[in-house]
Amino acid sequence: MLKRVLVANRGEIALRIIRACRDEGLTAVAVYSDVDRLAPHVRAADAAVAIGAPPPAESYLDIRKLVAAAQATGCDAIHPGYGFLSERAAFAEACGEAGLTFVGPPAAAIRAMGDKTEARRRMQAAGVPVVPGTAAPLRDAADARREAKRIGYPVLVKALAGGGGKGMRRVAGEAEVESAFQAARSEAQKAFGDGGVYVEKYLERPRHIEIQVLADRHGRVVALGERECSIQRRHQKLIEEAPSPVVSPALRRRLSEAATAAAGAVGYLGAGTIEFLLTPGGQFHFLEMNTRIQVEHPVTELVYGVDLVREQLRIAGGKSMRIHPGLLHPRGHAIECRITAEDPFNDFLPAAGVLHYLGVPTGPGVRWDAGVEAGSDVTLFYDPLLAKLIAWGESRDMAIERMRRALCELVIVGLPTSQPFHLRVMDDPEFRKGELDTTYLERAGSRLLAAAPAPGIERAIAVAAAMLADQQRTVPKSVDGRSPARPPARPSDWESAARREALRD
Ligand code: ADP
Repeated sequence: MLKRVLVANRGEIALRIIRACRDEGLTAVAVYSDVDRLAPHVRAADAAVAIGAPPPAESYLDIRKLVAAAQATGCDAIHPGYGFLSERAAFAEACGEAGLTFVGPPAAAIRAMGDKTEARRRMQAAGVPVVPGTAAPLRDAADARREAKRIGYPVLVKALAGGGGKGMRRVAGEAEVESAFQAARSEAQKAFGDGGVYVEKYLERPRHIEIQVLADRHGRVVALGERECSIQRRHQKLIEEAPSPVVSPALRRRLSEAATAAAGAVGYLGAGTIEFLLTPGGQFHFLEMNTRIQVEHPVTELVYGVDLVREQLRIAGGKSMRIHPGLLHPRGHAIECRITAEDPFNDFLPAAGVLHYLGVPTGPGVRWDAGVEAGSDVTLFYDPLLAKLIAWGESRDMAIERMRRALCELVIVGLPTSQPFHLRVMDDPEFRKGELDTTYLERAGSRLLAAAPAPGIERAIAVAAAMLADQQRTVPKSVDGRSPARPPARPSDWESAARREALRD
């Protein structure tokens, strides 16, 4: 039985885990880097531990500091969230050695799925169809040329360690092999500290379809349907939905069988996701397994009526999952838009700055999972994800209408975000018809992002926010020479930054 959980993450997923801990009757301890000291996840937790400087290597990626923080605060478990250390087998092992429960699968399962060629071998042995490709890492460019020829162009050179679409190069013909091999290798080395690459057949216009699985210590493995994540930019997901507009109950059954076989083959435990590519001809191929909770898990939660993070905690504590396979049918439709601090009208350039004002959408069928609030200072140290907006409706059309409504209600002032991009996708006839594949954005991008909207309303709100801040500044800082009882709840530079923004040009 778990009692106290260290949440080894930040942003929206840290808050999501803290809430699940509360719902499950557990206490939660947050960790924070210097720039996150006033972040919402820090205030939401029962206790919080400073873990160092903002660069992830000095804080959120430092295994030693995280284990020490858990021990110092009397935690009995660590939840890694996604990203950071969530798929590092060494972290799961370090937790075990320190007598802490790792909320995730055994280190051996992380390791088996973390190396993409090893995962492909294991899946083939378990009878799961994989994308045609090499069974082992490439030795050199000549090896790449030989394998690409055998597989047939076009091919994709991919990183063994993989993640976030990094270290991936499409190769149309032999002339490009050598440069793609070198480029993928150096990108993989930089991103993952492992330059190993392999080759896969490049599938034309596939859909990205993934299956959520849960496995407990009582030998049960269940699949909770699919998510369609075909709307991607540079192989990174932007919008996800459940169920997929094209997956029939029969196909769902076949995908689920393959996914549970995949999880079973590596002795999986907890929540995991098996990713597949579905070809226009209806064939599916294993792509990879993510051995952690996914960013897009809420769409599954809304259509299956489960709380995946609570189930993770239950399973880690040795309890059986509260899921009954016979009752598993999707109800309605859910869509998630990732609201990121990126400028869609400037090639999705990451943005930093103070979030002066935030108007959050609410109402029926709308969920807002955020890691920020008005006054938050968004830096470039971490992933640009600010929040996830999720909408549910009885049908896909209704979910889209709700998402449109929610996106219109959402007001973010202070820095550019992906919000206007999402609104345009919701209005796009191709998206509305469900005619999706992973090249959707390549084709639709210029149409969707043709003209930037006028900034009028945002500027007006920025000025109003700055005036409000000014007003607050006129409140006496001390009474009768004594200091005010409470320190300001916001970062100290909030007001001046708001003023600067409002008074600029
Ligand atoms: P990462 O681990 O970096 O996320 P994945 O293997 O999960 O990489 O692939 C991410 C995305 O890249 C997929 O959703 C798909 O859009 C594209 N992709 C990957 N492999 C292929 C392939 N063999 N053919 C076509 N597209 C692919």
